[in-house]
Amino acid sequence: MARRIRRKFPLWIWLVVLTANGGECAYCSRPAETMDHVIPFSRGGADDLRNLVPACDYCNNQKGDLDPTEWIPGRRDYRWDGNGTLKGPGPTLRDIYLDRHEARMYYLDHLEEIRAEILDKKRSDWIFDDCLFWHSVAGARGMAQASRDELVKRLVTAKAEEYPRHGFARLFGPKSRL
Ligand SMILES: [Zn+2]
Repeated sequence: MARRIRRKFPLWIWLVVLTANGGECAYCSRPAETMDHVIPFSRGGADDLRNLVPACDYCNNQKGDLDPTEWIPGRRDYRWDGNGTLKGPGPTLRDIYLDRHEARMYYLDHLEEIRAEILDKKRSDWIFDDCLFWHSVAGARGMAQASRDELVKRLVTAKAEEYPRHGFARLFGPKSRL
């Protein structure tokens, strides 16, 4: 195949592309500084308006010669610290998906256990009597919000340790005591 010649764009094409999408990067919504070939030019993507989107420098460099379906799932969910510099790399979209998928698979594999726990009388007593009672007592006494929260937290923690939980903790997230 003959080498494709990348054309030099006239100013109006730059203007059309860089003001499209409100001037925001098509991949991360930060202000766009460059034009990106959605299907990379090196891989046969059209070298015209049909294949050009506004992009920030960072995304354009990261994406390189990948198309969006190859790049986005493995892309780091990077964050900015407000001063224009990058914080450390976060999880990829694939990591986030797998994490949630794993939690959902756990529920599916333990439905009977979780159902039994939800229907268990000891558990419902624990929640509806003790916790709600202490919650209202702590509120009614006009305690400062912080000490009220602290009291409720201690009560809930004590109860949670006394109650044998299986899927319950997982249902409400790894850090939750309730
Ligand atoms: Zn971007």
